[in-house]
Amino acid sequence: MKKESFNKEDFKVFEDKKNIMAQLFGISCSVCGIDEIAYVASNAPKTIGQIAQEAYDENPDISDEELDKLIESPLEAWQEVDDYNSSIGMPTFACDNCYNQLLNGEIQISDLNQEEE
Ligand SMILES: [Zn+2]
Repeated sequence: MKKESFNKEDFKVFEDKKNIMAQLFGISCSVCGIDEIAYVASNAPKTIGQIAQEAYDENPDISDEELDKLIESPLEAWQEVDDYNSSIGMPTFACDNCYNQLLNGEIQISDLNQEEE
């Protein structure tokens, strides 16, 4: 069943330190495609930026290899959440504008062709 209405509980504020996720996968708004993400689905895991920041805080000498290893399973978790969300018509990433329009019922994901590639 596709999701047809949205409320504030469906989303949380997106905080990704140093825009690591944007750099890693070039994330963009699931609705309109711009790269200024303001909100993510509330079922989204901790951002890679937060995880990396915490790792740096704990061990400032952490190597790139160690960091890569550390974010491997969070990356998979994000992919799973995004796959699940697209199957139910829930945008994983939303810009400020689309977030407001979704909450106001002005746009619906199910109307859009979300096929990637
Ligand atoms: Zn948007």
